[in-house]
Amino acid sequence: MRSMLEAYAEVAGADVIDQLHQLAEPLRGKRVVHVNSTRIGGGVAEILNKLVPALEELGIESIWEVLTGESDFYQCTKGFHNAIQGTAADIPPALLRVYEETNAENAERLRPVLAEADIVLIHDPQPAALLRHIPERRGKWIWRCHIDASRPYRPVWRYLRKFVSEYDASIFSLAAFAQPLPHNVYIIPPSIDPLTEKNMDLPEEEIAAVRERFGIDPDRPMILQVSRFDRFKDPLGVIAAYREARKFVPNLQLVLAGGGATDDPEGDVVLTEVQQAAAGDANIKVLLLPADAHRTINALQRAADIVLQKSLKEGFGLTVTEAMWKGKPVIGGNTGGIRLQLVNHETGFLVNTPEGAAMRIRYLLFHQKQRLKMGRNAREFVRENFLVTRHMREYLTLILTLIHGGEERIVLG
Ligand code: UDP
Repeated sequence: MRSMLEAYAEVAGADVIDQLHQLAEPLRGKRVVHVNSTRIGGGVAEILNKLVPALEELGIESIWEVLTGESDFYQCTKGFHNAIQGTAADIPPALLRVYEETNAENAERLRPVLAEADIVLIHDPQPAALLRHIPERRGKWIWRCHIDASRPYRPVWRYLRKFVSEYDASIFSLAAFAQPLPHNVYIIPPSIDPLTEKNMDLPEEEIAAVRERFGIDPDRPMILQVSRFDRFKDPLGVIAAYREARKFVPNLQLVLAGGGATDDPEGDVVLTEVQQAAAGDANIKVLLLPADAHRTINALQRAADIVLQKSLKEGFGLTVTEAMWKGKPVIGGNTGGIRLQLVNHETGFLVNTPEGAAMRIRYLLFHQKQRLKMGRNAREFVRENFLVTRHMREYLTLILTLIHGGEERIVLG
């Protein structure tokens, strides 16, 4: 069977995998331990599912441990999560005690593996208090924050910061998400996995079948936005941009694809507004897809001529990178991580208004050569910067730096 790294080599390039081997060579036999709070569900588990076996293939002993706790522990850490993302809500002292006790218990259980590890990567706030229970630790400890900590609710952050400050380093996803800390802070942006159902190559027939299923005419231009129905994603702005662009491209089709039934009451309100705005126009398809419709989203992204992500506020917009990987120029809101994810005028356009978006849609649909070129640029830009292999490279580089930090030079394999 093909190894995981061989499979990545086919899409990311053999040189990228060679480089990973070189970086891993001085780390052979070292032990890296990851700790998070769940083995399934969520972006962190998804990344660890790939990262841990890939590090093993590179000859680095890799262990993934998961915290165990009762429901009040998760209630507390959910509170941390919301507070880090800015929700002003205090956490009762009784829950903070559960947090600390749960970390203490898990530290006892995991002590042998944590104390002996060369590197420990602690993901998000749930296991952050483990460190203080392992005073005999041998290795370097890194706190990896996957959430947007740009404007945390201060009282809760002050509490968590006590634990995080004890680490040797921390990692945030974007500079804008980071907090000042008394150790080195590194920035490692998110990535996409080119081999998952969301991003893998699809047969033409499958793309055609998805077009047919949703009544999308293959002979007319189609623009797409994939997003939760959320005001920050500006679906109404997308409809306004489409209406404006249609004055010049009368056969244009718009697809807005988003999640299905949701427990977010705001989501339902926005969806209703979108459906009302689209009512009576058969050329706008508002699609409600189930949460696991990864292949369908993949096919829609491939079927589109242009992908929009007209967000008014965005962290790292995965949909931008997903579309670019499929060779599509992206018209994105000039905000947050989108500014890093696309190169204005090279892989797509940054826009501030529906009129701006409409102008770019019109330009791209009237200049096919330019559109295809931007799409090719977009795919290359993702290949170089936003694949999971780059994520691995940055972890390896950081681990090397921490282990060999004091040395004048590090000899690679
Ligand atoms: N997504 C999905 N179904 C939907 C809408 C979005 O699977 O109905 C996926 C999308 O392909 C992307 C992720 O959910 O992988 C959304 O991430 P992004 O960073 O773009 O936005 P967020 O929802 O996290 O703000």
